[in-house]
Amino acid sequence: SVLSVSGERSYYDKLLGGLLADGFDEGSCRSRYQSAMYRRRPGRQPSAHLASKLRQQEALQRRCGPGTAAYSNALEQLRSGKSAASPECKYLVSISYRGLGNRILAAASAFLYVLLTDRVLLVDPSNEMGELFCEPFPDTTWLLPPGFPLASYTNFSISTAESYGNMLRSKAIRTDVGDVPAARLPVFSYVHLDHDATEQDKFFFCDEDQRVLRNVPWLVMRTDSYIVPGLFLVTGFQEELGRLFPELDAVFHHIGRYLFHPNNHVWGLVTRYYDAYLATAQRRVGIQVRVFGSQPNSPELLEQITKCAQKERLLPELLAAAEHGVPGPRRNTKAVLVTSLKSWYYEKLKGMYWEHAAATGEAVSVHQPSHEEFQRFGAKSHDAKAWAEIYLLSLTDELVTTAWSTFGYVAQGLGGLRPWVLYRPDNDTHVPDPPCGRDVSMDPCFHAPPFYDCRLKRGADTGKIVPQVQHCIDMSWGLKIV
Ligand code: GDP
Repeated sequence: SVLSVSGERSYYDKLLGGLLADGFDEGSCRSRYQSAMYRRRPGRQPSAHLASKLRQQEALQRRCGPGTAAYSNALEQLRSGKSAASPECKYLVSISYRGLGNRILAAASAFLYVLLTDRVLLVDPSNEMGELFCEPFPDTTWLLPPGFPLASYTNFSISTAESYGNMLRSKAIRTDVGDVPAARLPVFSYVHLDHDATEQDKFFFCDEDQRVLRNVPWLVMRTDSYIVPGLFLVTGFQEELGRLFPELDAVFHHIGRYLFHPNNHVWGLVTRYYDAYLATAQRRVGIQVRVFGSQPNSPELLEQITKCAQKERLLPELLAAAEHGVPGPRRNTKAVLVTSLKSWYYEKLKGMYWEHAAATGEAVSVHQPSHEEFQRFGAKSHDAKAWAEIYLLSLTDELVTTAWSTFGYVAQGLGGLRPWVLYRPDNDTHVPDPPCGRDVSMDPCFHAPPFYDCRLKRGADTGKIVPQVQHCIDMSWGLKIV
């Protein structure tokens, strides 16, 4: 228990209902066990099955991870290019790239896939993946060590000969000949699930392809998407997914809180900001304004944000300039956290609530931690701020996000929040009506799903195959779990 600012004793469950393992050194990663203290809402409870599966995975990562005899043997196989009849351990190397939201969703997807297929997860440390998070598994590392034998793996792309899709095309792998013994399969395959993936690459989401991939000891996966809704299309995974996640919409909520702990530097950014600007307000509203560096400031977008927030009663209406609000020291307080590459939206909102009284009498404060102006790649302090801001958004009570943005998806998932999504305007001079809509679930949207029915072997609307996978409200062809 801790004493809160107001002196009342509050209790929090630092292991998040068994989601997190006990016994980590707390000082090396303060966020891991302190995060529960910063969340007003307790979050969803993981199933007992998920908790025990996570402990099993941790044991697997320790038994097979870098530094073990099993890992050396597996590397030796990879070098020799020959599959063993029954390899001790199987691996998935996950390459995350693009913006931070994309990278987090990619690693989360890879993790769920290894849980379902008894593989060891190793994350490529480039693109800051090795610099923003704590180690998720006790007594081992999830980072792929230097010297990996597939020297050019970070350049694997749609045209790599060893991609699963290209191997199907060249008939190096066949799915139409029944069970292929492991010794006749390649020792590794590259799973290309990027936004430009081909139909063959996306056969990854079919049962018979999964039966083949099961026997390939090394997989390297590159994606910039949240592929989890696609995994729900694989019949062979459905029962286990149902047991792991009785509340289906909470898949990323659990996996994200399990895997992604801000390191001590980022946690300092999160907690100092929260304590100084957000902690004492009675309500916190997060507004994620995803803009691009080259876009001019948009009065239409500002109007869309205020219309949305006021219509949905997230922010109070304003009184006319001459009218006065209810005076007195005991008014309710609301803190608004704006995140954006630009400061213009924040300044306008702040000005509005300074120059006008709120119709509800609330005192509204508006805050923005940073405005980086342009999206940058490979810049450490830039990524640390982005991660801190995603995390701060997840600590709010109500959230407004921008359509299509993986930055917002991660915040909503970690926070267990079903956001109000600012619809994407058809053109820039038109404010969408309605300006926003309540998302159907907190789980992220898969932007590049397959459009193929594996059983019928023809194109299909994959939003209509299983009831738990539907199209997203912010991207009509995307898929999400509801
Ligand atoms: P998406 O492009 O909206 O799907 O989100 P990503 O996180 O994948 O990529 C956007 C990147 O731009 C982020 O990772 C940041 O580097 C930067 N960025 C965008 N919006 C913000 C913001 O509000 N705050 C900060 N600090 N960075 C941002």
